[in-house]
Amino acid sequence: MFSFELPEDHRILRGAVREFAEGVIAPQAQELDRTETFSVEITQQMADLGLFGIFVPEQYNGAGLDYLAYIIAVEEIARVDGSHAATVAAGNSLGIGPIYNFGSEEQKQEWLPALCAGEKMASFGLTEPDAGTDAGGSKTNAVWDEAAGEWVINGSKIFITNSTNRLAAVTVVQAISGKSEAGRKEYTCFMVPVETAGFTRVSMHKKMMWRASDTGELFFDDVRVPGAAILGQRGAGFKQMMKTLDAGRLAIAAMGLGGAQGAMEKALAYAKERRQFGRPIADFQAIQFKLADMATEIEAARSLLYRACWLKDTGQPFGKYAAMSKLFCSEVMGRVVDAAVQIHGGYGLMQEYDVERFYRDQKLLTIGEGTSEVQRMVISRSMLKG
Ligand SMILES: Cc1cc2nc3c(=O)[nH]c(=O)nc-3n(C[C@H](O)[C@H](O)[C@H](O)COP(=O)(O)OP(=O)(O)OC[C@H]3O[C@@H](n4cnc5c(N)ncnc54)[C@H](O)[C@@H]3O)c2cc1C
Repeated sequence: MFSFELPEDHRILRGAVREFAEGVIAPQAQELDRTETFSVEITQQMADLGLFGIFVPEQYNGAGLDYLAYIIAVEEIARVDGSHAATVAAGNSLGIGPIYNFGSEEQKQEWLPALCAGEKMASFGLTEPDAGTDAGGSKTNAVWDEAAGEWVINGSKIFITNSTNRLAAVTVVQAISGKSEAGRKEYTCFMVPVETAGFTRVSMHKKMMWRASDTGELFFDDVRVPGAAILGQRGAGFKQMMKTLDAGRLAIAAMGLGGAQGAMEKALAYAKERRQFGRPIADFQAIQFKLADMATEIEAARSLLYRACWLKDTGQPFGKYAAMSKLFCSEVMGRVVDAAVQIHGGYGLMQEYDVERFYRDQKLLTIGEGTSEVQRMVISRSMLKG
């Protein structure tokens, strides 16, 4: 039965992550954002806290908790900073997730312990310069070289999170590997270690948001990998990517929820402190109503997201609810940060006030891992199918 009472494990986890986020990330977030610095140190501290591989069993060095626990951790980091929440969300949903869910036993044993320990990071290469929403339009291809007994990969990927920093060790890349019997393009995912000859990575800068998160462009120029580099089965690439995005959307939703919560708390505190006309601006009904709307939308967002996690954790179909959660939570954060900046007046437009960063960081959430338009397509398709 779906319950609104969080189990004790989850409440303890929330407290520990909140303490870390407030104590370690918050004091550095503005400066790392300003200087566009990905912090290896904070990433490894987050790993020490168990934030990589939360939903991975202990036998692979994970924390052995459920998906809701992971979502609560992302929510708490996002309450303080979007970039670091992105590092954790991509590290788990896009890096560790596909290897845990689809990898062979050897691949899991080879990669998961170091990924969960934060000694290494994995990234997920789906998006290409000419293929974003239309993931099926990707051009990166892999050709089997019979004589050498190797796959040869050519192409490029763009906007890939956690792909260029010092810990980045492997990218799961989707490539066209041939044609199915029905004549359709066959997609396969390959695990490509960063040191593989012909694989180059370029860090992308001057982002509006998530400026302390690592984003890269990847180039594959006759990259040769063995047959064992295939993630799971040949031809399963498209399904693997879609399933990965379904689960990943819950983490983007958590970033929207946590970011909205953080922005609301900052607006509430500011409204009590800031005085105009001889009294705190919190005394004005126009401000009070904004706060009330923020709190109401955040509660609704949390209920929807936790319900979607419950569906996933209990093995039920959750794709439509993941899309709803991603759509709603990311758009709630948009409305909340807008009101939070409004409550801060001119100061909300200055970098020394955190709401300015929250305002920028929110925008990725309606775009990454499927835009709001795509979520509406997923939801309405599911409704129309009945
Ligand atoms: C910081 C950052 C990190 C990212 N991390 C990763 C990562 O780790 N791995 C990865 O693979 N990708 C990653 N992405 C890519 C991200 O998932 C894509 O940007 C996103 O899927 C949208 O693709 P696009 O940017 O090419 O936009 P487009 O697909 O070009 O879309 C442009 C606009 O057209 C709309 N549109 C497109 N098709 C339709 C349609 N059929 N109907 C209605 N509207 C439509 C879209 O909704 C959007 O508004 C990242 C992106 C960013 C910015």
